[in-house]
Amino acid sequence: MARVSLTERIKQDLFLLDGAMGTELIARGIDVGKCNDYLNIEQPDIIFNIHRSYFEAGSDAVIANTFGANKYVLGRHGLAEETIKINKAGVQIARDAAGENKYVLGDIGPSGDFLEPVGPLKAQDLKDAYVQQANALMDGGVDGFIIETMTALEEITVAIEAVKSISGDLPVFASMSFDKAGDDFKTMMGVDVEAAVAKIVSLGVDAVGFNCGTLSLNGYIDLAKKYVSAVQGQSADVVVYAEPNAGRPELVEEKAVYKVSPDDFAEIVEEIHAAGVNIVGGCCGTGPAHIRATAEKLKR
Ligand SMILES: [Zn+2]
Repeated sequence: MARVSLTERIKQDLFLLDGAMGTELIARGIDVGKCNDYLNIEQPDIIFNIHRSYFEAGSDAVIANTFGANKYVLGRHGLAEETIKINKAGVQIARDAAGENKYVLGDIGPSGDFLEPVGPLKAQDLKDAYVQQANALMDGGVDGFIIETMTALEEITVAIEAVKSISGDLPVFASMSFDKAGDDFKTMMGVDVEAAVAKIVSLGVDAVGFNCGTLSLNGYIDLAKKYVSAVQGQSADVVVYAEPNAGRPELVEEKAVYKVSPDDFAEIVEEIHAAGVNIVGGCCGTGPAHIRATAEKLKR
């Protein structure tokens, strides 16, 4: 079976991403404060096994374990010098798990700091850091990039511009995380759906969406509908994607616990897909069982 390019594939029928990495690592005994990205070097088997479990559950693509592998986040673990190595290793592990016919996205997350004038980060320095990470992901052999869990429009703009400056024909996905704000949705930094979509689509991405957040499952359906209508007003070419959490986190003994069952998750994802979202997956609290239930419900 010849594999079509990811850019083409996401415009065809439903494209299923994976579930969470972070909460899966915690479930497998990795400490919460640890540098998850460094596991690509220290414990590649655990990462490989998580990727494999998602492909076996029905994912069309996995997201490499490089969410925090930019020099700022790695720097907080004393690992800034290892940035390139960690990214390349993360892609290699995902590629090994993907085989010939499945796809690998390079994961790019926030720096954990704010741009001037709100914070100390200079836009050019941040851009350089994202270019460095994206180049390493590209060298590792990704099929595309996913910039995710962003809350500030300025930071996601810098990240998209950085990735697009080196990505060539590879597709770029970009998503922000939303909370409930009255009857509406806003990111932690106060960005609403219309502003997010207008800006992100104008930067020439292939897919725009939302991931993570603190919404209830029904909230994610409403958010999906809002996204679809906002994107339709901007561009017919851009695909919408959604990676909801397994519901709202509940605090149990000071740990965030996600309680939504795989079947309930799959039902909500079916409605999100019916609303016009072609790329779906899960964020925090979703595991292989959630992806399997979704695949069984939506991919027949
Ligand atoms: Zn998440």
